[in-house]
Amino acid sequence: MSLSEIPPKVYAMVGTRGLHPISLRECLRCGCNDSSKLRVVDKRVVLKAEEEADAAKEVVEYIIKCESCGESYALRLTHVYSGAGDKRVRITTFVHLYTVDGVEEGWLGNY
Ligand SMILES: [Zn+2]
Repeated sequence: MSLSEIPPKVYAMVGTRGLHPISLRECLRCGCNDSSKLRVVDKRVVLKAEEEADAAKEVVEYIIKCESCGESYALRLTHVYSGAGDKRVRITTFVHLYTVDGVEEGWLGNY
């Protein structure tokens, strides 16, 4: 369980201005950008991808605790795959912000 399982940045489309990057190496509560203050304190597979299915989704949630402000939040990664077994490739991953109580706070972007 480490921050390295989470991409450093995700991107969201912002109208005609193109892709807006959001850093996942800073606290999404206080904005502290010292990533050594961020701890992955829990990881949970919300939905497991079916091995045999031709297209699959996997949802993994990471609970992040910031040692700077003391707040915690959840990053929910929805991996979208195409193909089954060895031929499976990741198409994209949606990253959503949740509270630790499971309340969705919005889509941050994709990678
Ligand atoms: Zn913080």
